[in-house]
Amino acid sequence: MIRPDLLLHETPKGLYCPPGDFYIDPVRGAVDRAIITHGHADHARAGHGAVLATPETLDIMAARYGEAFTATRQPLEFGETVEINGVTVWLAPAGHILGSAQVVVEWRGLRMVCTGDYKRRQDPTCRRFEVVPNTHVFISEATFGLPVFRHPDDRGEMAKLLSSVELFKDRTHLVGVYSLGKAQRVIALLREAGYDRPLYIHGALETLCTLYQENGVELGDLRPATLEKGQRGESEQFRGEIVLGPPASFNDKWGRRFPDPVTCFASGWMSVRQRAKQRGVELSLILSDHADWDELTETVREVDPEELWITHGREDALVRWAELEGRKARPLRLVGYEEEGD
Ligand SMILES: [Zn+2]
Ligand SMILES: [Zn+2]
Repeated sequence: MIRPDLLLHETPKGLYCPPGDFYIDPVRGAVDRAIITHGHADHARAGHGAVLATPETLDIMAARYGEAFTATRQPLEFGETVEINGVTVWLAPAGHILGSAQVVVEWRGLRMVCTGDYKRRQDPTCRRFEVVPNTHVFISEATFGLPVFRHPDDRGEMAKLLSSVELFKDRTHLVGVYSLGKAQRVIALLREAGYDRPLYIHGALETLCTLYQENGVELGDLRPATLEKGQRGESEQFRGEIVLGPPASFNDKWGRRFPDPVTCFASGWMSVRQRAKQRGVELSLILSDHADWDELTETVREVDPEELWITHGREDALVRWAELEGRKARPLRLVGYEEEGD
């Protein structure tokens, strides 16, 4: 079998495929041909010559960067294959956000899978992660790649929010969510939990919520969390309601108008107490769109690749774990990935 790094290897611009002449989620500067795993800004950048991605990811990029985000859009549905300079490429669901995909690259009998970001649990806003069988090299993210990271059940976290709403009927619950992925997942989980009152959203969430709804994700009755003319007493209407907005908006004029708010934040990082404290979060909701330690290790066992490459965060612990399991593993030092959306 050929050496895997002939098919995919790190470059300063990101993960590159020499025979196919394309990059996967290039992080630095524009390239001629990019395959994009999902719409978060650290993976999906504007300005590439051609972009191959799921139709949902292409829509998300157009919504965020404008229709001219690339010269050529190449939509690829899950399971469809395409040949790029003799390299076979297809996409498998990654379970991270709407449209998120693992990129499967095949050449001369070698199959490599690049996960992008992923999680294993069921999420009402996107297709669930699928294990790609017979994978030789599995390139896994490791954003939460430490044994201390064990995300609790999402329904339990939503129940925490709903009982607080029940308890503090006179206060506004101001829930911090990133605009792509987390916002829609929190809304969909609240609907699943039976919450059918209107939900009020910051203007920054509107476009993407609409895009999700157009893609068949049920979000129920969403209303703008805006006040008409700043009239006195106007903000009283939000007492007892749930308002969602980007965390950064809480300290600006928009966030300060809500009466006696309970400040909440839905993020995987809320498991780190220090972070919740720094942000002045009153109610932290641990809700991550990334695999936690158990999901990472279970996924590696299930995929059972010949080689594991680890990227995106805490590579070292997972490399050590893999070596103890008798697996061949190495860190892939790709710079530029941050933690947008978690
Ligand atoms: Zn992401
Ligand atoms: Zn990422």
